[in-house]
Amino acid sequence: MTQTPAFDKPKVELHVHLDGSIKPETILYYGRKRGVALPADTVEELKNIIGMDKPLTLPGFLAKFDYYMPAIAGCREAIKRIAYEFVEMKAKEGVVYVEVRYSPHLLANYKVEPMPWNQPKGDITPDEVVSLVNQGLQEGERDFGVKVRSILCCMRHEPSWSAEVVALCKKYQHQTVVGIDLAGDETIADSSLFPGHVQAYEEAVRNGIHRTVHAGEAGTAERVKEAVDNLKTERVGHGYHTVDDEALYKRLLENNMHFEVCPWSNYLTGSWNPDTEHPVVRFKRDQANYSLNTDDPLIFKSTLDTDYQLTKQKMGFTEEEFKRLNINAAKSSFLPEDEKRELLDLLYKAYGMPPAAPAAGQQP
Ligand SMILES: [Zn+2]
Repeated sequence: MTQTPAFDKPKVELHVHLDGSIKPETILYYGRKRGVALPADTVEELKNIIGMDKPLTLPGFLAKFDYYMPAIAGCREAIKRIAYEFVEMKAKEGVVYVEVRYSPHLLANYKVEPMPWNQPKGDITPDEVVSLVNQGLQEGERDFGVKVRSILCCMRHEPSWSAEVVALCKKYQHQTVVGIDLAGDETIADSSLFPGHVQAYEEAVRNGIHRTVHAGEAGTAERVKEAVDNLKTERVGHGYHTVDDEALYKRLLENNMHFEVCPWSNYLTGSWNPDTEHPVVRFKRDQANYSLNTDDPLIFKSTLDTDYQLTKQKMGFTEEEFKRLNINAAKSSFLPEDEKRELLDLLYKAYGMPPAAPAAGQQP
């Protein structure tokens, strides 16, 4: 698709899943090479089976991963390559800084219980997965000129993995890893309060590891409250249902909480009904702190421009708002202060703004 980008300037992306951003060509290549059965033989067919064009239920969405993850998980070369190609993809989208997230356990085939994707037992541990992804990301940074950091995901349904997730965040801190996330099905009862997750987040706080949590996407405002109060999150993945609880929303606005918004994803997963106003319009009106992100571009057949086009064409977003939200994304990134400053300077320059200018609408 050749289309003028909605915002043809440097961008920052904070919420994108590595395992939802793989090239179909790469899936086919490793499926064939490793003898892993795939539901299609050509890129086009595979795109149509893995990709979504219209809203699906959560189980329908999650089934997509079952199709292709067995081709990638448990293969050193594949894990490193998807990380490298991810950076190439982001360079083409005009992204200058990205934080990419994934569950190390879901790409491993050794010392992981239960074994993901019905893989046979192999010899790649979650620890080695992180090391391989780091290598791919760092080579990508060097070759494509995009600054990349990573976030390791705990999974709501597997609290027994979380202690290792935070241990890996500590081990690889500053070797691309900057934060911890909690992903998966947030409607699992009390999953924000599972001791495995709570203890991992406490350990993250103690060790200066930054925190984000998927909350208030399909789940209620209560999930957001738990993420803030129990898990001490610094950003909220999605967070739309915050607006259902005015007191909570007001508190998060006052605290300048960052919301990682993924509008096209929300349309396709059904977490947003397009006949209603998307909460990001409210965020814009209130000059809240938020970013625009792709989430899982392989499955949503999208690029970052898809999200910018959607907000520009259907929600009246302007160039000024795009600048403001990218500056807020940079400020809310998990980079250390000096690197954050550099990133901000790059954006101010590209946007024709004075170097130390505060983001428009930012609270003093
Ligand atoms: Zn996500």
